[in-house]
Amino acid sequence: MSSKRSVYDAEPIPGAARDVIDGLMETGDLFRYTAKVSQVTLLEKEFAAYMGSKYALAVNSASSAIYLSMLCVGVKPGDQVLIPAWTFAAVPSAVVHAGALPVLAEVGENLRLDMADFEAKLNGNIAAVVISHMRGHTSDMDAIQALCNARGIPLIEDAAHSLGTLWNNRKIGTIGAVGCFSFQSYKMVNGGEGGILLTDDPDIIAKAVFMSGAYEHNWSKHGYPEVPFEKYQNLFPLFNLRMNNLSAAVIRPQIPLIDERVAKGLENYNYVAGKLNASPLISVPPADPRERRAPDSLQFNLVGFDDAQARRVMEISTARGNPIAIFGLQGDNARVFWNWKFIGNVPELPITRAMLQRACDIRLPVGMSRAELDDTVDFILDCVSEARMLIAS
Ligand SMILES: *Cc1c(COP(=O)(O)O)cnc(C)c1O
Repeated sequence: MSSKRSVYDAEPIPGAARDVIDGLMETGDLFRYTAKVSQVTLLEKEFAAYMGSKYALAVNSASSAIYLSMLCVGVKPGDQVLIPAWTFAAVPSAVVHAGALPVLAEVGENLRLDMADFEAKLNGNIAAVVISHMRGHTSDMDAIQALCNARGIPLIEDAAHSLGTLWNNRKIGTIGAVGCFSFQSYKMVNGGEGGILLTDDPDIIAKAVFMSGAYEHNWSKHGYPEVPFEKYQNLFPLFNLRMNNLSAAVIRPQIPLIDERVAKGLENYNYVAGKLNASPLISVPPADPRERRAPDSLQFNLVGFDDAQARRVMEISTARGNPIAIFGLQGDNARVFWNWKFIGNVPELPITRAMLQRACDIRLPVGMSRAELDDTVDFILDCVSEARMLIAS
């Protein structure tokens, strides 16, 4: 593509971060527990307020947030945790690090959980559910929440890549007992690395604060007077998953920009999706009227392609400098369940497998201009139609 902005670009950091960072450079005050009210604490307050949650804990990644969440809802070694079969490797990895066994539920070609399979697997052996709103695609959260509540199973939301998404006007990441978000560079808010968890449950936040590394009485600096920290003092093993003040200073000025980024991302997505859907070779998973997406990437399915033709899409686009990834045809893709050999016996999941072998993935950074989007559409259509023709001739 000739455009200046590449699909690999992250969001630029607002200039307002500079003054705060300069101040931190002078004082060297980078550790969250040195100042009485640190940048990290301010980020927690501001993010919780923006999302309408009672409590937030900033950590060093969404992976850490997901791991902590499982420990805080009571997942124990040997327990089973139900997760979608299409998610980032961080999720089954967090389950394994918690000593538990991941059970994988099928994901259909609409990129949402197959609810029949989910319900069938949500049995008495399941200690917790982690739902990944993968690439911002939301599964039926009403049904999932009702099933988990009815069976008394805690629900954790991996909203790492779904900041700003709404489900029936509720903010994704605030529906389950805990919601986890990522500030890694290629998510809606760019902190380089970083994550945050949200909850309304005072016991969950107390445990999470301790285990994230609030040794001694550092919990008092989180400013949650009604949370029963004293009850849990010295009862949980400490770790260090803390965020530092520099990351928080980079993230904070982006929170007021989320709504604008979401609107732009959705507008870009709808524009590109509409154009791609006009091709008989491409199908963009249909919108669900209950969902308002917050996309910064686009996934589409190749229609009527065989494996060789699908591989040509990857080869042609890669040769032209802007690879279109097909999750299940790309060696060692971390979002492909059969690559998660670390979970032990990888199950066979025909619905998810079929989806992964035709689902394409391309970034759509929210800062792209109309001209850049047009270039992207032309590029995709060229690669896809050439890949199809080359084999046929
Ligand atoms: C990015 C991502 C993660 C991991 O987030 P990190 O902050 O990089 O640990 C987990 N789940 C999903 C769905 C993601 O997109």
